[in-house]
Amino acid sequence: MSTPIYQIKNPQAEQKRLEEAARILRQGGLVVFPTETVYGLGGDATNAEAAEKIYAAKGRPSDNPLIVHIADPSDAEKYAFVPPLYRDLAKAFMPGPLTVILPKKDIIPRQTTGGLDTIAVRCPSHPVAHALIQVFGRPIAAPSANLSGKPSPTRIEDVREDMDGRVDLMLDGGPCEIGLESTIVQLREDGSAVLLRPGAVTRDALLCVLPRVEIAPAVTGELEPGQVALSPGMKYRHYAPSSPFVLLDGPEEDILSFLRREQQKGCAVLCYDEEIAELESIRLFPVGPKADLAEQARRLFTRLREADHSGAPVIYGHLPVMDGLGLALYNRMIRAAAHTVRTLP
Ligand code: AMP
Ligand code: MG
Repeated sequence: MSTPIYQIKNPQAEQKRLEEAARILRQGGLVVFPTETVYGLGGDATNAEAAEKIYAAKGRPSDNPLIVHIADPSDAEKYAFVPPLYRDLAKAFMPGPLTVILPKKDIIPRQTTGGLDTIAVRCPSHPVAHALIQVFGRPIAAPSANLSGKPSPTRIEDVREDMDGRVDLMLDGGPCEIGLESTIVQLREDGSAVLLRPGAVTRDALLCVLPRVEIAPAVTGELEPGQVALSPGMKYRHYAPSSPFVLLDGPEEDILSFLRREQQKGCAVLCYDEEIAELESIRLFPVGPKADLAEQARRLFTRLREADHSGAPVIYGHLPVMDGLGLALYNRMIRAAAHTVRTLP
């Protein structure tokens, strides 16, 4: 059975539809909703059965915790033990694309946190997400609304492809503004902070508020066998198309000649806009201007899905620089490519 989709342009004018969504959540059902990062697959964060339904709908291992979405940054105090640094982060970055890991209180069941005694909290800025949490009156647990292992959905078409018939309702709020999942930072009791997942709130931005920010090894590297990921999601294959995805590094001219040769064999290319004129137009998926990392973030997951649908035997992309928003692009792309980098010439 296919899932109904409600387009919500103006949450104030569409209270009835939001109330219907909230009713589904209250009954333990699942509602997909837009956020400024990617689409979320939401259930009642205080209901263990709803959390289990989320794992089932995504085909996600149940030790991979969900993010708890709140309407106001101060609501975190109801669900977590909140240190003063959280308030500083909230003042600087919330509502917005930042998730903070804190020690959890008992009201949140362990099913929601993948068995951990910490909780991930985020206060989204998207008006539809915000309105839905408010009308519901409780926190919403939500991971990204993709099937486990697929690229996160940033448009309702992508959500439909993965979630049609698996959830009770989908709210369409148009394409997501940021396109990559939230930055995740863990605040430890000793006052230290660890960046578990890079996102639109960059490490430099965090350093304006936090004295030190360690980068978790899984952000840029591959975990050694037996090494434990601080953020459980980091240990799973993720964001991946089904064709092999290979990242290219080296001088621009060498990359272009390599790509021209490979295009004869039918490869797909995630190219910069400046390269469109230099390459064959077939199976070419522009991600944005080379210097515009925000645009690349916005388009990455959709372009990966499109490249995958093109049926190409292999997909190529550029290895991003690890600076600013580039660190988030690097983290998603290196994992989608299962760490396959080809250095040219
Ligand atoms: P998603 O946004 O779909 O990738 O799902 C949420 C991600 O948040 C998970 O994959 C985890 O890596 C991370 N996360 C959620 N809760 C915690 C937590 N308590 N500790 C560490 N990471 C978490
Ligand atoms: Mg995800």
